[in-house]
Amino acid sequence: RKAMIRRHEEEEDKEATDHGVKVASHYNRLQEVGLAARSQSRIFFMRNFNNWLKSVLIGEIVDQVRGAGHQQVSVLDLGCGKGGDLLKWRKGGIDHLVCADIAAVSVEQCQNRYEDMKRKGHFKIFSAQFIAADCTKEFLSEKFDDPELTFDICSCQFVYHYSFESEQKADVMLRNACERLKPGGYFIGTTPDAFELVKRLEASDSLSFGNEVFKVSFQSKGSYPLFGCQYHFSLEDVVDVPEFLVYFPLLEHMAKRYNMRLVMKKRFSEFAEEKVKNEHHRSLMMKMTALESFPCEDGARQATDDRTEYCHAKEHCSRAGVKLPLGTLSRSEWEATSIYLVFVFQKMS
Ligand code: SAM
Repeated sequence: RKAMIRRHEEEEDKEATDHGVKVASHYNRLQEVGLAARSQSRIFFMRNFNNWLKSVLIGEIVDQVRGAGHQQVSVLDLGCGKGGDLLKWRKGGIDHLVCADIAAVSVEQCQNRYEDMKRKGHFKIFSAQFIAADCTKEFLSEKFDDPELTFDICSCQFVYHYSFESEQKADVMLRNACERLKPGGYFIGTTPDAFELVKRLEASDSLSFGNEVFKVSFQSKGSYPLFGCQYHFSLEDVVDVPEFLVYFPLLEHMAKRYNMRLVMKKRFSEFAEEKVKNEHHRSLMMKMTALESFPCEDGARQATDDRTEYCHAKEHCSRAGVKLPLGTLSRSEWEATSIYLVFVFQKMS
């Protein structure tokens, strides 16, 4: 049965002449795993750290929208995946959410998760719509249940880099992100920092760099086209997917077409260092990445190994001048997550 599934997947790959098809089938194949299995992953703490960072970002932006007097908050989650941010939106108390992703299986899982939350919860939950679409090719506004729908926030977490294959694709995704934003609305996201990727590539004596948890491979170095500058990113031995460098000044320039102004861009390390100064964010980080939260007894890693990793992380961060309560983020995980940046654009009225 496994061999049959594998053959079917290989056939799917052969048909995948388009990057979008490759990306969709990659994400569609990723299995949902429970907390126990997740906690055995070498990137367990990195995932928690990334989730903490998204929680802080989402929480602050929802507050900003409310602070500006908008009581009903509507959000577009562009590249929602399996719905990893649904709880964050519920916590933010938003009123309406549209989830869109190219991977139809992920969108279905996202919708199931939402229906579960609705069934189990004793709380009021936002209304929602789920759309399976290639957001670099299709116009989402043509698919909304309410044709007049507008948003306060568009959130695009770890997704936008897939669109930089061509100017047209990057522009369609940007249009999907921004065209239905209300004046004063926000386009927020996380994406790899092209400068950091190129810096590490240039410092490497081969066409790739990474460690035991992640690997980035380019086809050449020395010159980097503005669009279609492809690299392969693999995380924890998961089959890699093609991604593209996002030259941020270009994105900033393109966003002006949609009346968007960059209000914040920070590397993950910078953003985290700033946010942990806040007591509330700090205690959330401790809860989400705390050493105690690791179930050593049934985890694959031994407690001693984790402590070694923990020491490495602390050592590495203090050497790099980073003053973070990074919990158990290992040096390898930190090297992977420090590639990313977080951005906030705002629509001018
Ligand atoms: N945003 C989610 C999160 O933070 O957990 C998922 C992030 S996952 C790393 C990247 C997601 O981008 C995948 O779910 C993938 O299917 C989606 N994606 C990639 N290319 C896309 C496209 N052209 N249109 C819509 N979604 C896309």
